[in-house]
Parts: sequence; C-alpha cells; structure tokens
Amino acid sequence: MSAPESPGRVAFVTGASRGIGRAVGVALGAAGCRVAFCYSADTEGAKETQAAIEATGAEVLALQADVADPASVEHAFDEIEATFGPVELLVNNAGITRDGLLMRMSDEHWSDVLQTNLTGAFHTIRRATPKMMRGRFGRIVNVSSVSGQTGQAGQANYSAAKAGLVGLSRAVARELATRGITCNVVAPGPIVTSMTDRLPDDWRQWAEQTVPLGRLGNPDEVAAVVAFLCSDAAGYVTGAIVPVDGGLGMGH
Ligand code: NAD
Repeated sequence: MSAPESPGRVAFVTGASRGIGRAVGVALGAAGCRVAFCYSADTEGAKETQAAIEATGAEVLALQADVADPASVEHAFDEIEATFGPVELLVNNAGITRDGLLMRMSDEHWSDVLQTNLTGAFHTIRRATPKMMRGRFGRIVNVSSVSGQTGQAGQANYSAAKAGLVGLSRAVARELATRGITCNVVAPGPIVTSMTDRLPDDWRQWAEQTVPLGRLGNPDEVAAVVAFLCSDAAGYVTGAIVPVDGGLGMGH
C-alpha cells in the first residue's frame, strides 16, 4: 500500500514533542497535511519535531498546551484556526503514566492520568467537532493502548483511561457518523519511546518474549496506521480499534 494522502488537510496532533506523536506529525506532513502539534513542556523536543515535520515540506505550527486544561485547549485551537483554518484531522496522542499498585495509588495519580489521557481527548474532540460538522468532514484518531484492552497490573489509572477512550471514541463515531466524521482508536503495544525507556530491563525482556513478533515496536509503525485512519481512503472505517502490538492481543 502506498502512503495515504491527505493533501492540504489541517491536522492537530497532541503530545508530539517526541515518541509516537512526533512520528505521527512526520507521517501526516509526508501525506501532505499542514500540521499543528502541541506538547506539555519539552521545548527542545518540540523544536526537533518541528524540524522533522518541516523536512517533509509541510507547514508546521508548534504550541505549548495542556490538553487537561479546557482553556489551554481552547487557546490552542484558536491559534491553529488563525494560522491554518479549522482542524480536519485530530490525533489525540498526549498521554502520561503514573504507575503503581492500586492499594497505594494516590488520588492525584489517578486523576492526573484520567485528566490527561481521557478528559484531554474529550476537550479536543468537543472543540474540534462543530467545525468538522460544518465542513462535513473529519477524522479523529485516539491513541489508546493494549493496557486498555487487557488491563495491566500497576496501571489501574492508565488502563481505565485507555479503556475509556474506546467508549468515548465509539460514542463519537455513532454521534457524528452522518456528518462525514470518523473516530477510531489505535492501540499500541510496547513501543520504543521515552515512556518505555523508563521501565526496567526485565520488563523489556518480558515484552520481547511475550510479543509474538518478538520485539518492541517503533513509533513509525504506529504512525503509519494513524496516517491511514486520517486519510481520505479510510472513509468507511469508524468505531474501530486497530491494534499495533506485534500480535500481543491477537486483535483484542
Ligand atoms: P512520550 O512520553 O514519549 O510522549 C508523550 C507526549 O505527550 C509528549 O510530547 C508530552 O509533551 C505530551 N504530553 C503529556 N502530557 C500532556 C498534556 N497534558 N498536554 C499536552 N501534551 C502532553 O509518550 P509515547 O510513548 O510517545 O506515547 C504516546 C501515546 O501513546 C500516549 O498516549 C501513550 O499512552 C500511548 N502508548 C504508548 C505506548 C508505548 O509503549 N510507548 C504503548 C501504548 C500506548
């Protein structure tokens, strides 16, 4: 399959100062989009993302914004609309982990993870969709995780947030289907990024032994699937969960 095209479309990728978000920004730039992205604090990383997307020939807008804060999301969308026009492709990728066993999990670690990973997507979707409806076109991709499907010990907050994204996505898919707007979920397995770099070596060994393909994935492999779901060619796909997990969940 050749790279999907989305010529001239305005894309917004959350959490793209590194990792999967950066790879998605580059893939969408290569597909012909104008790409806005946000990040929480890593300004140096954001500059590298900006340069990587610009290298595809795409126009780029980098924004520091907190998806957990509706006012910050509002401000980001205002800037994007003033620069590129309404967002047509929205990729909710921003995510954090605050791992720990449930019995010791603080209220703060629970709510921070829910607020960024799940409520953040609610904020952006609510802000983006009125204009998508007016344009009778939209692509929304929410980056969940295999942990949202299977659960993961030590990640009650993260698994709940990532499972919540599935319900959110399917409700949005049904609500907006008649308006030409699709909403899908990509569920990565273990991918080499700063999120997994923090995990101990025995976790990496477990992943390599457990994933049927025998290795961790790389961000480009997730980005290729996201870019397809954002493309015009994916117009008949909505409410789907697409795993990119080396076979870890065997389709679940
Ligand atoms: P990462 O930690 O490398 O990057 C996270 C990005 O999100 C950064 O750009 C950061 O600035 C941004 N971010 C965090 N909180 C934010 C906020 N409140 N507002 C705006 N931006 C914010 O993470 P990654 O590994 O690239 O993961 C990207 C997504 O993929 C996350 O949603 C993550 O849960 C999911 N995921 C990752 C893996 C993996 O193995 N790496 C597996 C499954 C799912």
